[in-house]
Amino acid sequence: MAGRIFDIQRFSVHDGPGIRTTVFFQGCPLRCRWCHNPEAVSAGPALFYSDRACLSCRACEATCTEAVHSFAGEEHRMCRERCRLCGACAEVCVAGALEFSGRSATPEEVVEVVLRDRVFYETSGGGVTLSGGEPLAQPAFAREILARCRTEGLHTAVDTCGEGAREALDALIPLADLWLFDVKHLDPGAHRAATGRSNERILQNLRYLDSVLRRDAGPAPVGARLVLRVPLIPAVNDTPENLEALAALIRELPSVHEMRLLPYHHLQEDKYRRLGREYPGADLVPPDDAAVGAIREYLATKAGITVDVGG
Ligand code: SF4
Ligand code: SF4
Repeated sequence: MAGRIFDIQRFSVHDGPGIRTTVFFQGCPLRCRWCHNPEAVSAGPALFYSDRACLSCRACEATCTEAVHSFAGEEHRMCRERCRLCGACAEVCVAGALEFSGRSATPEEVVEVVLRDRVFYETSGGGVTLSGGEPLAQPAFAREILARCRTEGLHTAVDTCGEGAREALDALIPLADLWLFDVKHLDPGAHRAATGRSNERILQNLRYLDSVLRRDAGPAPVGARLVLRVPLIPAVNDTPENLEALAALIRELPSVHEMRLLPYHHLQEDKYRRLGREYPGADLVPPDDAAVGAIREYLATKAGITVDVGG
């Protein structure tokens, strides 16, 4: 069996407790306007190009059979419509100006990398986190990685947007010690406008997960936790109505004791440029610290849970 990933990040400290290895799955059903990993939304690979790094050596032009690369003097031009994403040009680019993202991997390969840092997990209380992209979109692959990691005694976490089949969720519940569950908007129409899909199935899955984790003798590992992650996007989901609805939702979910606010930033803009794509969140503005602090305070008081900022 093999799955699609676009990165394995070692020494991660933002995707669960302790020092972790985060496995980034390729492919996501949502199209969030502020997506930080645009190279991961499609199930296939992606080709980055950085003009700042290009040496105009023309090795890519000589290698590509589709005539994607051409030069007008020193100026490197790319006709991406012709690209079939084979990755050959990135392999010959010694400057690293071309970078190919996304690959096939077996669970064995992934777990072999994860296990390299076992000593750090043991000393920090860390483990492995599946992120993305969306792990629920490749449930058999995700399940196999988690099962192997648990056999090795590692703490396991799944970071999900929640948009996936109930069967996929059921397949992973017995194997995850921690769920990092994104909630982006409570209104179905606004959610669709911001992410391309309604939130109906996401909220159904969230309520279902909460009900399973509350059961004493349910399928989840003993002590499994559910943490909400809320990207804070000014003028999209920071309205009083949405924050009130979010607090009300949390009060409905007894297994949720913790939420993390992720204030919007636009560091990802460069990725879109290097992929030759327009950034759909160009009009979005990061919130200031005072606004984030006030929202944190409001949600902690109204929902009665711990609310932290970041990670
Ligand atoms: S191979 Fe790399 S450095 Fe050389 S021209 Fe192509 S992109 Fe530029
Ligand atoms: S990925 Fe393949 S088809 Fe696309 S530009 Fe590079 S060599 Fe050409």
